[in-house]
Amino acid sequence: MLGTMGKNERGSTSQRMCVGCGNRAERDGLVRLVVAPSAPFVAVDLGRRLDGRGVSVHLRRRCIRAALQRGALARALRGVAEIEPESIERMVDQQLTRRVRGLLSSALRIRRIAVGAEAVRAELEATRGDLLVVAEDARGRATELAKMATAIGCATATWGTKASLGEAFSRQELGVFLVTDRGIARAILECLAQIEALSEDE
Ligand SMILES: [Zn+2]
Repeated sequence: MLGTMGKNERGSTSQRMCVGCGNRAERDGLVRLVVAPSAPFVAVDLGRRLDGRGVSVHLRRRCIRAALQRGALARALRGVAEIEPESIERMVDQQLTRRVRGLLSSALRIRRIAVGAEAVRAELEATRGDLLVVAEDARGRATELAKMATAIGCATATWGTKASLGEAFSRQELGVFLVTDRGIARAILECLAQIEALSEDE
């Protein structure tokens, strides 16, 4: 389960149509895919900086699948390449993961992150914390820390495994970390929500 943070968008007109379901949505809720002339033929343009003809699609499995079957993306790819929806999902997931890791590096650089149960507990006891992230396979103390976080209004999220969290911090395993910078916490939560949306079937 992910905590949600409201976006403060006043009168934004940056709407785009999802080529998968045909519905219009705020640009930020869609991902831009750009057709490339060579393998892997589709580039995922999270930062919306790539040149070339792009289409927008919801970060949802069924919209990505539909986009590959019909519409502008399917037409652009016809006769060029056969793209599996899974490969697009994998690319998006990898880019979002990379972005989260970049945010974690920033938090480390400015010392606004506590890594490991003991350090996390110390911060939470001092009522500091904007986002607690717990590995899916973390047990015991993680549940207690999540309760402490919720009690002080700190967002909580589940992400990855102890092994993958460990990798992000050059450790063998890591069950839990706490971000104590509001802006970085919000940016990480947005990425994690997108990663979660991608793994949902409906
Ligand atoms: Zn859609």
